[in-house]
Amino acid sequence: MTNERLAALEAQVARDLTYLDYPARPWVPPRSHPDGPVRDVVIVGGGQAGLAIAFGLMREKLGNILVIDRNPAGQEGPWVTFARMITLRTPKHLTGPDLGVPSLTPRAWFEATYGEAAWADLGKLPKEIWQDYLIWYRRVLNIPLRNGVELTQVVPDGDLLRLRVETAAGEETLLTRKLVLATGIDGAGRWHVPDFIRQAVPEGLYNHTSEFIDFTGLKGKRVGVLGAGASAFDNAGTALEAGVASVDLCLRRADIPRVNPYRWMEFSGFLGHFADMPDLDRWRFMRHIFDLNQPPPQDTFHRCAMHPHFTFHTSCPWEWVRMEGEEIHVGTPKGVMIFDHLVVGTGFIVEAAFRPEVAAFAKDIAVWADRFTPPRGEGNPLLARYPYLGDAFQFTERKPGAAPHLAHIHNFTFGATLSMGLSGASISGMKYGVARLVRGLIRDLWLADRQHFLDDLKAYDQAELVSTTWPA
Ligand SMILES: Cc1cc2nc3c(=O)[nH]c(=O)nc-3n(C[C@H](O)[C@H](O)[C@H](O)COP(=O)(O)OP(=O)(O)OC[C@H]3O[C@@H](n4cnc5c(N)ncnc54)[C@H](O)[C@@H]3O)c2cc1C
Repeated sequence: MTNERLAALEAQVARDLTYLDYPARPWVPPRSHPDGPVRDVVIVGGGQAGLAIAFGLMREKLGNILVIDRNPAGQEGPWVTFARMITLRTPKHLTGPDLGVPSLTPRAWFEATYGEAAWADLGKLPKEIWQDYLIWYRRVLNIPLRNGVELTQVVPDGDLLRLRVETAAGEETLLTRKLVLATGIDGAGRWHVPDFIRQAVPEGLYNHTSEFIDFTGLKGKRVGVLGAGASAFDNAGTALEAGVASVDLCLRRADIPRVNPYRWMEFSGFLGHFADMPDLDRWRFMRHIFDLNQPPPQDTFHRCAMHPHFTFHTSCPWEWVRMEGEEIHVGTPKGVMIFDHLVVGTGFIVEAAFRPEVAAFAKDIAVWADRFTPPRGEGNPLLARYPYLGDAFQFTERKPGAAPHLAHIHNFTFGATLSMGLSGASISGMKYGVARLVRGLIRDLWLADRQHFLDDLKAYDQAELVSTTWPA
């Protein structure tokens, strides 16, 4: 397609934003501080969520914001780093980052880039194309994103937050009133490798699916994959395509998950109002959804199954692992399996203490276990560790009054799922989640400065009626 089409779309974006430009007045009073500028909002994470949140705030005339990401430009998030599927798992018609502006939708960009026929022919969006869309989105909206900047620690300072960040040039401190953690699917905890694997197998002979994996180096090797989710299958497929000798994918469950609750969740009642339900309802919905897990899409399964050296084993948890010479021996209820390399697709654990950014005050953050006791027989220890968030994704205090700064830290990661539903860390929920978060941030900034605005109103003397005589 020609660049003219994309240029025309970009002109359309600019025009659309002009049509929607109400109210147009920047309004948050600037703060000064001897240590440097104070941002109204800093967003950590320049993936799809961080970009869309920034755009949402810019539309509400918050100019004094900053997005940071530790990764280089164009490599934010999983899409061109460790995602190993061919296409997104979500349907191509989803919207989200556009925040309701038609010319900013993935479809508008795709058609301008590749043409309408290509859109009609497209099954699902290739992951690299999704990343290209995000790169375009960032550029066309001029999102204030600094790459190569890593948040290492948040230190409360009165009603501000002091952010210690690492850059190539050294350490810096940023000051902000509000902080959004849009740090990704593992952003409320960390990727999980069971201890018995980590302790038994030397580094280099196993990888978590979230890591860089040198698949070409695995050519001719016997690979064991642990996990039932879509990522386990994506990695199995990638390994098979790289020419490994065999892949044995083992899952604890008696069957591969087949039903995808993510597709069920995609309607406005659920997406818009999950967070408004009482605790017991939220718990019951999410407990069931987590039990279902997310199956590999059909094409992902076929991608593996087409290889004769692919086998999957149900009811086959790994019970122990040990090295025998160069071989990795894995004990399962179905006997001992022997591998040369392991790929671990056991997801992530939500636990604030694992996040360096907030670890210093993780004990102050309320989790579901602090606020809610499930009925007998409905427990789930993993869910109980999820943060108990307020209505705008903000952390809440375990002990009231002990850590008031938590109200200014908004967690837009997968860790928000139990409190807020499908919103952070998923494309499907962005349309509602970003709007809710932006509204909450604006509300808090307004309320914090309400005396200033009352004084401002009282001092307001801009005459609209400038003459009480008939013009001569
Ligand atoms: C393999 C995989 C496939 C997925 N496929 C789909 C799919 O098909 N459809 C769907 O709806 N969802 C999918 N998801 C879920 C979700 O959409 C993605 O995880 C998505 O990337 C979430 O966007 P995000 O902006 O919240 O986080 P990310 O895109 O992960 O961005 C977070 C960013 O935060 C940065 N960061 C983290 N910590 C710091 C720090 N301390 N300082 C500075 N920067 C930091 C990271 O560098 C990263 O760039 C998938 C997730 C994975 C992992």
